[in-house]
Amino acid sequence: MKKMVWLLMAVAFCCTGCAGTLRETRAMWLWGSVVRDKGADFVAKDFRAHNLNCAVMLVKGMGGSASWDSKIALKKNLSKGDVLEQFGKACKKNKIDLHAWFVVNSDEAWLEKHPEDHYYHCGKDSKDNGAVYVSDCERVCTLSTGYRNYLLAMIRELAENAGKYNLKGIHLDYIRYPHAVYCFCPKHIAKGKALGVDIERLREILKDTFYRGKTNAYMKAWIAKDPDVIKWVTMREDEITELTADIRKIIDEVNPKLELSAAFMPDGAEKEPSFGICHYGQNWTRLGHYLDFICPMTYHSTFKKPVTWPGDIALRGEKITGTTVLVGLGDSNDYEDAAKVISYGRKLGMRGFCYFRYNLLDKPGKWAAFDAVDEKPALPLNDCVAPCRKGKACPKQK
Ligand SMILES: [Zn+2]
Repeated sequence: MKKMVWLLMAVAFCCTGCAGTLRETRAMWLWGSVVRDKGADFVAKDFRAHNLNCAVMLVKGMGGSASWDSKIALKKNLSKGDVLEQFGKACKKNKIDLHAWFVVNSDEAWLEKHPEDHYYHCGKDSKDNGAVYVSDCERVCTLSTGYRNYLLAMIRELAENAGKYNLKGIHLDYIRYPHAVYCFCPKHIAKGKALGVDIERLREILKDTFYRGKTNAYMKAWIAKDPDVIKWVTMREDEITELTADIRKIIDEVNPKLELSAAFMPDGAEKEPSFGICHYGQNWTRLGHYLDFICPMTYHSTFKKPVTWPGDIALRGEKITGTTVLVGLGDSNDYEDAAKVISYGRKLGMRGFCYFRYNLLDKPGKWAAFDAVDEKPALPLNDCVAPCRKGKACPKQK
């Protein structure tokens, strides 16, 4: 009975928060440069003309250049003024939600000033002297306290100015490792050793897996609960999860109405998630607790998967995270059968879709699938996620 009362209260609370906001989220990622080139009003009107209601605009990419007039960012592109502010105004006029998209694990501007924060590869140098420093990569080691504070300060700056920029949320990209072979910097080696990891043995398992043809050896070792692999993988997973939790904390402190979302690799929501967890340190279940919604990068044509795959991943993702997961599409060819992907997602009861990315559709005919999705969704979809975030999915509409 207690359970029933709680459930009714939760539904009532959610419905109060959602009054008049039932809708399907139709999101698209876009680069700040596109807004700079085409103009904020043009792009916002174009979103509206093609039935989109949510824009995820890149505000800090791998290069580290901010697309807003930041007082913190080391580099910023103001060649056409504060393009985030311009786009925020245009989105408001066109009733489009705007999310500020941050690339988390990479920042060339930071690394130019702090080269010691580059990733180190698991291999050894030509004299067998230890891990290889990766100077030609823009990835920043997760253990760099300086970069972590810098990133958090930029997110805080936007959260504090969400009104000025008409922001609905903050969106995290590359909130993960790019590959299992990173990072073997001195700090990571010391941390691994302190946890009891046999670093040399771990390095051999990784080299067997990725350079000596023993495919999946690393993931199999994790499934078999190999102590060295479990400790190392959990350490990386903890780093990614703790960073996400810190970002959530800032948003909850500064502006709890803002949503926090992220782009995820799909692997962690497969029936067997070891690749996603071992490779990327991205544990969907743990991370979902801090996120209002997730956009999986289920680009089915790139991955050579059926049109049902993005919907199936989104559905499984909601089950394992307890938060909203959109149906993900993108890359050069997904637009061809976007209508089928979206339609299948609707049949499963998913609450919307997210497409990567706007300028890929900048040719005649490529918008057709999106123009066709204007029919009433198969189920009314609910974008009220914030009150239900903590481990509970929003009740679906009947
Ligand atoms: Zn490191």
